[in-house]
Amino acid sequence: MFVWVLNCNMIATSLDVAVIRKDFPILKRKVNGYPLIYLDNAATSQTPKQVIDVIVDYYSNYNANIHRGVHALSQEATDRYEQARHKIQKHFNAAKPHEIIFTSGTTHSINLVANGFTTLLNKGDELLVSAMEHHSNIVPWQMLCERTGAILKVIPMNLEGELIMADYHSLLSPKTKLVFCNHVSNALGTINPIEEIIEAAHRVGSAVLIDGAQAAAHIKPDLRKLDVDFYTVSAHKICGPTGVGMLYGKEAWLNKLPPYQGGGEMIAEVSFEKTTYADLPHKFEAGTPNICGGIAFGAALDYMNQIGFDAIASYEHELLVYATEQLSQIKGLKIYGTAVHKTSVISFNIEGLHPYDIGTILDKLGIAVRTGHHCAQPIMDFYKIPGTVRASFSFYNTKKEIDVLVNGIKKAQSMLQ
Ligand code: PLP
Repeated sequence: MFVWVLNCNMIATSLDVAVIRKDFPILKRKVNGYPLIYLDNAATSQTPKQVIDVIVDYYSNYNANIHRGVHALSQEATDRYEQARHKIQKHFNAAKPHEIIFTSGTTHSINLVANGFTTLLNKGDELLVSAMEHHSNIVPWQMLCERTGAILKVIPMNLEGELIMADYHSLLSPKTKLVFCNHVSNALGTINPIEEIIEAAHRVGSAVLIDGAQAAAHIKPDLRKLDVDFYTVSAHKICGPTGVGMLYGKEAWLNKLPPYQGGGEMIAEVSFEKTTYADLPHKFEAGTPNICGGIAFGAALDYMNQIGFDAIASYEHELLVYATEQLSQIKGLKIYGTAVHKTSVISFNIEGLHPYDIGTILDKLGIAVRTGHHCAQPIMDFYKIPGTVRASFSFYNTKKEIDVLVNGIKKAQSMLQ
């Protein structure tokens, strides 16, 4: 039996889940003849009609390119896009709107920063990465090390899926130039102690990038209070559309980094002799952006804020505790990731069965879970397993759905064994 600690700001607020579910048209559909039970929220969350309506409204009423037109539609689209930037700034408590850069998502955001550090690193500089990262917070840094001769060092984790903080502190030195770590692990659900990570890194003069892809659906981070240098988010994991997200960067850092891509929108003056670049945020937003996506990202934050992050966290914690209790009773089932602080993600395997086979049978019953290495192969290597089955719960899931999952797993078990 595992014990979790509720964050002190998690007030036991109940959600009217039956009402909330009505906002999500997709939850009414059937898959393979069964009502859809969507438990793949860590990969992509579902979209409420309030956000879908904003997308339809954009294409129906004011679709136009932004920042460059004098006509009414272009101005309207520009206003709405920039309003969304302000909304995002406010939500994450960034100091300035131009510290929010629209990107295509977390992967794009991390690559932008990794590319920018090429000119700022020297051979022998050290970068620290946590042992529980998504590939998108590993590979861009490995590429950066290849370009610069910098060295990548790993902050280890324990069997519960928690970072070994004593080792982190001893890895830090004046050679450390950058630390990157996820706020929440996609494969294990661990909530990492990012306050401590940021503070300690700053003490040795290192910058910190926190990958917030998994956290933003459950936690409302106060970026100014955290004093983090960079923070990344993908809208599709927080009830928004795919192909859009943000990079938050402190103004001073964003001014230090060179542009990532060249093209329209990111320039001040262009001539064949010399080009100068636009100010923030446009310096990093070359080309026509995902205009509708940016606006819908803002609408997704409105939707989630209306429900309230305290209520979401409290309800999802209840689901996590219930699901863990129920799943733990299945013979041969082992859960990976039992950190004291975790979000509503359960990664598991069943003795003697391949995760892919379990996922396939669950799909036949209309239950969507993810199977495989979850783009976190180093975690699977650590546990010496090929992958896991991952059920990830959102505020629109129910205990009844967890019961159906448990029965589905038992059915898979009896068919496969
Ligand atoms: N980081 C984490 C922790 C993730 O879970 C994911 C996606 O699952 C990513 C980064 C990559 O996000 P995206 O594919 O939206 O760029």
